[in-house]
Amino acid sequence: MQEEVLGGRFLSIGECMVELSQADDGHLRKGFAGDTFNTAWYARACLPADWSVDYFTTLGDDAMSDEMVAFMRGAGIGTADIRRLRGKTPGLYMINLKNGERSFSYWRDSSAARLLAADGDALRASIEASDVLYFSGITLAILPREDAYTLLAELRRAKAAGKPVAFDPNLRPRLWSSLDAMHTMITDGARASTVVMPSFDDEAAHFGDDSIAGTIRRYRQYGADMVVVKNGPEGATVGTDANETLVPAVKVDKVVDTTSAGDSFNGAFLAHYLQHGDPLAAAAFAAEIAAKVIQEYGALVSPKKLNTAR
Ligand code: ADP
Repeated sequence: MQEEVLGGRFLSIGECMVELSQADDGHLRKGFAGDTFNTAWYARACLPADWSVDYFTTLGDDAMSDEMVAFMRGAGIGTADIRRLRGKTPGLYMINLKNGERSFSYWRDSSAARLLAADGDALRASIEASDVLYFSGITLAILPREDAYTLLAELRRAKAAGKPVAFDPNLRPRLWSSLDAMHTMITDGARASTVVMPSFDDEAAHFGDDSIAGTIRRYRQYGADMVVVKNGPEGATVGTDANETLVPAVKVDKVVDTTSAGDSFNGAFLAHYLQHGDPLAAAAFAAEIAAKVIQEYGALVSPKKLNTAR
């Protein structure tokens, strides 16, 4: 039985975007989302009040950036480390619905978040002031190569200092200049991490893994303590030094919208694991939260509907 750990500061690093989706009446609905922000949202929903959850990014000085910051604060997510850059704006994406199929259009090439690691001192101060770090392959993909190295160097420092560093490779070939660049940087991301949380579909498609055990082996060789491989309705496999264990998904009769399944799984897993130190119990809890999330529309499901500690 592990000891219960007192709270700390969870810092998620990446890009939150403005989201436009179609409302039933044909109007466009505005929201805010992005993989690392979604995970921060679910970590916040699942962690008790003695933990703070902060988001690290850069935004602009426009009204939309103001609204995004207000939205984050309203959700209980700390924004003190978000730098605001003159003349910049947040990234934007739109969810298109055609015959029940969703597709996405993105406007993020010049978003403020691409500069999130440009100020290495600010990044270091923020990471040093945190107890747990979270980032993704998308965080790395949007950065200029040199800035991605700055971020990875700071995360490696945090790992060397004994802090948990969690990483979802979230492979998105379209965001990378080449598959080679994606493979190299994702591998470096794993080297900077203690917990790697990939999705098997993506890893099989883009790294050619022929089994979940293969994905675990590949990431474990870079020095992660734990690899948690998500595999949709099949569940998630937790690979540690000791063993590999499949934790089944929760059966869902009617899947409404799988957006954020993996992001919510990650946030809930980390929230539980940080408190109790038991990865299998954390994966079972995360499967319950993800099952609730896919029975609702949208990336961000209200904490009330999740029925968590808060
Ligand atoms: P990603 O969104 O990153 O591709 P997955 O599709 O693997 O991630 O889903 C993450 C988690 O969400 C799974 O491990 C599982 O717990 C849950 N999940 C996803 N799809 C389903 C489903 N159809 N039924 C039940 N649980 C699901």
